[in-house]
Amino acid sequence: MKRRGKNLVEATEPEVLDLVVRGGRVVTPDGVQAAELGILHGKIVRLAPEVTDPTHTELDAAGRYVFPGIVDAHVHFNEPGRTEWEGLAHGSLALAAGGGTCFFDMPLNSEPPVLDAAALRVKRELAEQQSCVDFALWGGLVPGNLDKLAGLRDAGAIGLKAFMSNSGIDSFPRVDAKSLYEGMKRAAKLGLLVAVHAEDDALAAKFTAEQQAKGRHDAKAWLASRPVEVELGAIRQALEFAGETGCALHVVHVSSPEGVALITEARAQRVDVTAETCSHYLLLNDKDVAKLGAPAKCAPPIRDEKRRLALWQELRAGHIQTVGSDHSPSPPEMKTAKNFFEIWGGIAGVQHGFQLLMNECAATADQDLPRLAAVLARNVARRFRIDDRKGLLAEGRDADFTLVEFGPKRTIKADDLWTRHRISPYVGRANRTRVTHTYVRGCPVWADGGVASGSPKGQFLRPTHT
Ligand SMILES: [Zn+2]
Repeated sequence: MKRRGKNLVEATEPEVLDLVVRGGRVVTPDGVQAAELGILHGKIVRLAPEVTDPTHTELDAAGRYVFPGIVDAHVHFNEPGRTEWEGLAHGSLALAAGGGTCFFDMPLNSEPPVLDAAALRVKRELAEQQSCVDFALWGGLVPGNLDKLAGLRDAGAIGLKAFMSNSGIDSFPRVDAKSLYEGMKRAAKLGLLVAVHAEDDALAAKFTAEQQAKGRHDAKAWLASRPVEVELGAIRQALEFAGETGCALHVVHVSSPEGVALITEARAQRVDVTAETCSHYLLLNDKDVAKLGAPAKCAPPIRDEKRRLALWQELRAGHIQTVGSDHSPSPPEMKTAKNFFEIWGGIAGVQHGFQLLMNECAATADQDLPRLAAVLARNVARRFRIDDRKGLLAEGRDADFTLVEFGPKRTIKADDLWTRHRISPYVGRANRTRVTHTYVRGCPVWADGGVASGSPKGQFLRPTHT
């Protein structure tokens, strides 16, 4: 009798939670609410105005927003092969310092590039050792690797990335129209999404030659060499191919409202396409590029102020589905050439880009943070089919979150950067946003504005294929 009684008590006793996040304002795409999170074994098991279950530890979030862990679908961490450009350890920590809990690494800047299953496994193993946040890996689509795509899918690639213009990496050639079309046909059969860097190579070459014939190689000439029509021509072609092949298409780093409009129109015609823009297109304009120089060089280039503001409108209208960092650093010596055309094109924004987006919304946080929670987390997880675990603060999901507060303005300094090289277009910029904590599966990676001890090792994520 006694033993039975004891078992009965144990069965009804609630399990002690690992952690309760107290007193914060929880952000979801539906709005901001005063709520608490109860966490057990790395999952959110309670989300309620008050969590009363017993708990081992508590985290005080009073006066802060509890924002979903950011899922950055677009980074170049350059490992293996070019670890001295960034590397998985530096890159993942800088992401966590900026509120990120998950990244998707692009296939091209590593050596070997991820063009088959074997290369994906090599990178996976490294990231499992080096990354402090969870991750997924892109495979590449290049001329001649069609018969490797099934292997990449089976190895867990999150999608395939193709360049419609020169990638800047010799071992990752651009796709010609035929190989893109064939690749998308194959990808559609395999249930793989294809992401494109959409710039028309021939047009870019033509405008570049025009600038160089004039003897111009400054930042303004670079901007003039890649006008919006270079992007639009390539987006049109990719949309046409997506419509014909039925392949899921993700247009990365759309830099112009005109590009977003093309994608919105195609979506209305039931083309399976999503638009990504990047934090720098929402934060910087062409005048900033002329002023900042090399740290603000990227392709497609940063546009004028009118377009920057129009992109914010498109984002608030729900026409931009995701925002990534396109974090693409290089060693300092590749950022110093006198000829702007020869400087490495890539912006290192993984740490400050997303928090500066929040900063832009500080005055309208309760309206705008939910929109950011959609484009930085929920929509990304959904599009790439990891939403059974990621992207949303909800019961049953991984306990990935970041605590954010708005304080007095502070100037971003090079010393604040956790990237390998302390180069960023945001150094010198005023920022009210503080990312005080970032937790991955219930474990702190970033705490009290510094690196947390005992950080978790990153877990590999693959899309759920239904
Ligand atoms: Zn990129």
